[in-house]
Amino acid sequence: MIIPVFNEGKVIRRNLGEILNELAESGIKFNFMIVDDGSSDNTWDELKAAAEGLKNINLLRFSRNFGKEAAILAGIEHITAERYLIMDSDLQHPPRCVRAMLTLMESGHENIIDGIKITRGKESGIHRLYAKTFYRLYKAATGINLDNSSDFKLFDRHVAEALCGMREAYPFFRGLAGWAGFTRAPYYFTVDERLEGGSRFTPIKLMRLAFGALLSFSAKPLYLIFYAGVLMLVLAAALLIGTRGMALEISVLFTDSAILISLGVIGFYLARIYEEVKKRPRYIVSERIEK
Ligand code: UDP
Ligand code: MG
Repeated sequence: MIIPVFNEGKVIRRNLGEILNELAESGIKFNFMIVDDGSSDNTWDELKAAAEGLKNINLLRFSRNFGKEAAILAGIEHITAERYLIMDSDLQHPPRCVRAMLTLMESGHENIIDGIKITRGKESGIHRLYAKTFYRLYKAATGINLDNSSDFKLFDRHVAEALCGMREAYPFFRGLAGWAGFTRAPYYFTVDERLEGGSRFTPIKLMRLAFGALLSFSAKPLYLIFYAGVLMLVLAAALLIGTRGMALEISVLFTDSAILISLGVIGFYLARIYEEVKKRPRYIVSERIEK
């Protein structure tokens, strides 16, 4: 069971207690791998206190905030199990659903159970708008529908091994889990309310994640540039013929901006290649408590 945690000092102990209780009540045996994603509050101390005396809680601490995606993958890489469950620490992924997810996995002999949100829970307007725009763009670019998908996932060790083999610098967990294939079934759940504070994702952080996901899962924007270029050539020719050269200045301005935009798009991918060839680690572990 992997839980990424970032700046949840105030609530993490209570939330963990609740998760532990729920799971114990459902009679599920489990090991935790909790990853502190470089929190700047007292999360790490709270985690250590919560884990004291408990044999099944392992902790990993990042040297700084590397992001939820890196934290999830680090968790998978640092634990060996028959089954893996990814869960948020804020109880928005209800632990009471785990039993049913396990049953669904066993009865259907599935490799992956995808948690799908029935409603999106309480979210800010900008969050919702972001998610909607991103899913639409993502679907257009990759053909994969992530609507209402979540990181609340249960999968077996075959999937875990496949995920560990994906070495890209900016992993997007949901995309990678989809790309990996395997047999899967959806599990529909209602997102509980977050009891404390708001989302730990700032709009900038979300935008970076969305941008990264699009860039690493589709090269379509690059092809689009080419088609746009062809279209413009045809338009320019028509303009030239139609106006006998009069619209030349306008069309030059038009093409100039198009060239700059295209260069920008190519630049995004170039930057990606640059990040990939550096082969830096995706995260740095500064402390580890394993039992
Ligand atoms: N989280 C993380 N690193 C980050 C941001 C969030 O590990 O940079 C964790 C956070 O502590 C929580 C989970 O990811 O356990 C989901 O975060 P949050 O509830 O803030 O996101 P949302 O509910 O808006 O998806
Ligand atoms: Mg949340």
